[in-house]
Amino acid sequence: MKGYDLDRDHYWEAKGLPAGNGRRDGRTLHGKMTAPVRLAEELLFPRRCPVCDRPVQPFGALICASCEGVLQKVQMPVCRRCGKQLRSESSDLCRDCRTLPHVFERGETVFTYHSAAGGIFRFKYRGRQEYGAYYGKCMADKLVCSMNISRRMPDYLVPVPVSAHRLAARGYNQAFVLAREISRRTGIPVRDDVLRRVADTLPMKNMTPAERQNNLKKAFQAFGNDVELNSIMLIDDIYTTGATIDACAHALYRQGARRVCFITLAAGVDSGF
Ligand SMILES: [Zn+2]
Ligand SMILES: [Zn+2]
Repeated sequence: MKGYDLDRDHYWEAKGLPAGNGRRDGRTLHGKMTAPVRLAEELLFPRRCPVCDRPVQPFGALICASCEGVLQKVQMPVCRRCGKQLRSESSDLCRDCRTLPHVFERGETVFTYHSAAGGIFRFKYRGRQEYGAYYGKCMADKLVCSMNISRRMPDYLVPVPVSAHRLAARGYNQAFVLAREISRRTGIPVRDDVLRRVADTLPMKNMTPAERQNNLKKAFQAFGNDVELNSIMLIDDIYTTGATIDACAHALYRQGARRVCFITLAAGVDSGF
């Protein structure tokens, strides 16, 4: 594989497939929206900044120039399994990865949770889907960087699903919004039909990692065949202990997937103890 440079046709050539834009139906994600229509839309509904929530400055950007520094990118050293930022180099695994066996192969994350928490809350619970343009760009940049290093490309991006009733209440799945933007920028197709959340789970905020794993047992079901599900990149907004990603990976492996990795928008910093 040659260097991966965000050139979509390049990606499809490397995969031995005809050049396309990453959608199975062959259409662009924004349909036939032209530049003047997009501009008119921007003027009527100016994009809001994922940090300050005001219309972005300068106009047309995805985040205010003065706000970008607030979001802290995950810095080395990171956990070699889940990609969480570590406080020290005394171990190359975070506390959770030292104590819990994971099902997923490995993962990475873009921002530290505390620096991005306010925006992620609005993105998830206050209808600010528009933040997905900036968030997805940052995730795509990180993914492209790792693909250039590992020289491996996932076959599909799979957003972590929410249950049907949460989807109905919220109107969208934030993980799908991120996956769609990453796909638009990298050409890697999104498959939101191979994984379904079949059971609603209890809120996990105050649960131990073991309780979380138990809570998520049988929460996800995978569909598809082993040819389709060769190498999967799971997409989600927040990584905590990995219980959700593991439950998804478990369902996908059972269905024949060979390699399940993930990328999330944010994760906490390892406590180190
Ligand atoms: Zn701002
Ligand atoms: Zn870890």
